[in-house]
Amino acid sequence: MPTEGDESGDLVGDQHDPVRLVGLHRLVSATMRALGQAVGDSVDPILNSALAAIGTFSGVDRAYIFLTDPDGAHLSNTHEWCATGIAPEIANLQHVPREMADPWFEAFEDDQHVYIPSVAELDDDQAELREFLLAQDIQSLLVAPLGSGGEIHGFIGFDYVRHRADFSPADLDVLRILADTIGATLSRLRAEERAARVELVDPLTGLPNRTMFVELVDQTLALGATGPVDVRPETAGRRTARSQRRSLVGLIDLDEFAGINETFGFETGDAILVRVAERLQAALRPDDHVARVGADEFAILVDDAGDDVAVDAISSRVAAAISEPVDVDGTLATVSASIGFNVDDGTAESGAELISGAEVALRQAKGSGGARAVSFDRDSGDRIAERVNLTMRLRSPGGLDALRVAYQPAVELASGRVLGVEALARYTDADGAAVPPDVFIPVAEDAGLITALTQRIGRMVVEDVLERILPVLQGPLSVSINVSAAHLEHPEFVQDLAPYLEAAATCEPAHLWVELTESGSMVGDPQVLANLDAVAAAGVRIAIDDFGTGYSSFARLRHLPIHGIKVDQSFVRGVESDPVNQSLIRAQVDIADGLDILLLAEGCETRAEVDTLTELGVLFGQGFGLHRPMPIEDLVELLAAQEPPPG
Ligand code: C2E
Ligand code: CA
Ligand code: CA
Repeated sequence: MPTEGDESGDLVGDQHDPVRLVGLHRLVSATMRALGQAVGDSVDPILNSALAAIGTFSGVDRAYIFLTDPDGAHLSNTHEWCATGIAPEIANLQHVPREMADPWFEAFEDDQHVYIPSVAELDDDQAELREFLLAQDIQSLLVAPLGSGGEIHGFIGFDYVRHRADFSPADLDVLRILADTIGATLSRLRAEERAARVELVDPLTGLPNRTMFVELVDQTLALGATGPVDVRPETAGRRTARSQRRSLVGLIDLDEFAGINETFGFETGDAILVRVAERLQAALRPDDHVARVGADEFAILVDDAGDDVAVDAISSRVAAAISEPVDVDGTLATVSASIGFNVDDGTAESGAELISGAEVALRQAKGSGGARAVSFDRDSGDRIAERVNLTMRLRSPGGLDALRVAYQPAVELASGRVLGVEALARYTDADGAAVPPDVFIPVAEDAGLITALTQRIGRMVVEDVLERILPVLQGPLSVSINVSAAHLEHPEFVQDLAPYLEAAATCEPAHLWVELTESGSMVGDPQVLANLDAVAAAGVRIAIDDFGTGYSSFARLRHLPIHGIKVDQSFVRGVESDPVNQSLIRAQVDIADGLDILLLAEGCETRAEVDTLTELGVLFGQGFGLHRPMPIEDLVELLAAQEPPPG
């Protein structure tokens, strides 16, 4: 019990004993080391044991930490240690108004601690504080700020209940060092927390980013899986059971956004992205989520999408939100988008699975020309399984051994002479069934196997040229392989392709080519330009594949070492009765003439198409109507039967 007038106190140990001071120093530096490595939640146990150690050692009755509540107007006791026989107060000291401690915080702002040797002697202008402290039997106390300047998180305090305190200046120094370390640790942890938050949010739109979106979808599925069926009348239907609830994920990829950036500039491009983000949010309910998951890709998550009719309604609202023109400095810009939806039927195991279905659907939407939505419905659900199996098979040892090459001839339309061949990858699954390249090429790209695949195809092609084709060749022949656009951006591209590039000389009179799908980076990326130059310098020719479906403009093509373009099949299909495609092909013929490069039309299936193409000035063609892709044996036979070229 506190004794009236007990000035010097029956202290635990002599406060001025140097041995005691060294011990205190040791404790504080051990705590500092531990705090220096503390992350997240691990800081709490460190603080608790530091308070206990220092409390025991220095003979105080209570050692504690108060932190400011998020509202800034209250304080809460977050950590407390009490000597034996001293009643804990932590439970009584939650969310107490900060006002009472305002004089202390004024001192803290000046980097001062507050030492009250005798609470009973506090001035009357601090009467409220005096009574508050006395109510806890506190006779003396020391409080020191945690943090400094504009960032004071709270304070550390030491109470004397049974007797009055007698801190030496050396004690105070050590305790201040401790307080400063704790303050700095709290500042660091809060900064890390903020940084972690920032990493989950897209800075441009303030929307969750991809990482956070995946997390949100995971959480939604987890909630649904464990959430109880709510049958209470007042809340029934608020959160229905997983099997009845349908979560919808939508991926929205803006079409040709690179073109928009180029036409209007990046600043305007950004403004459009912000507008689209706002519209998507407005199209959905507040509980739903919109995220920005890529440069020009958004994602939505609708927790409980409802029945088919409701899902359709959501899709149209989203589509409308995007297709409405955006006012850009007085000019109306229209953006279109490809959308992939996936609605969980209660079977999705993870957020990643649900999202991956939407990705498959998005790919289909983009593949069919964009500006459309595709839903990944239950019927195509096994495509995910197929993809997973294929990825595993491709990645397994010897997974690429099943790769084969089919050769599709390209002909001079007027004579039908085979002037070139394109190597097309063929793959069979474990059961020997053919897997189309449109399926396994994207899988190989995602699985990081596309380089190995291209190298293997290149090697097989060079081997076929040297051993099978050259012996029967009567004149020049172009031989091409396909290269993925993504690969072209790699700094190692030339090194990866070295064996193919180096074979160019020994393959004469066969000329090696690479076919590249046009991509946005083709014109801007210096790495891509360097790679293209190196390919051309090696004597390997370059064709732009699927021409007209990407973003190439004539002006940009001029500066690339391009030797040919392949007009995409979509222009050729039914061209004889399609005046628009006719004029587009005529324009492409003009470009090729202007640049003095070759032009070939892909996908020639009918006589009528070939005739129209010829009228439009197309000299070369490829397609099922001319020759289907064939094994090397058939190609050798075809080439051997060919007359030597005239002249
Ligand atoms: P692509 O480079 O545009 O190849 C032409 C595709 O059109 C081939 O499909 C070919 O069989 C098909 N085709 C040719 N003539 C006609 C026709 O008259 N009508 C129709 N409907 N189709 C025709 P395939 O072999 O299924 O290849 C599809 C795509 O897969 C290729 O499109 C190419 O982008 C990719 N691919 C194929 N092999 C490779 C490869 O070794 N590496 C890479 N990176 N991609 C490859
Ligand atoms: Ca091709
Ligand atoms: Ca093509």
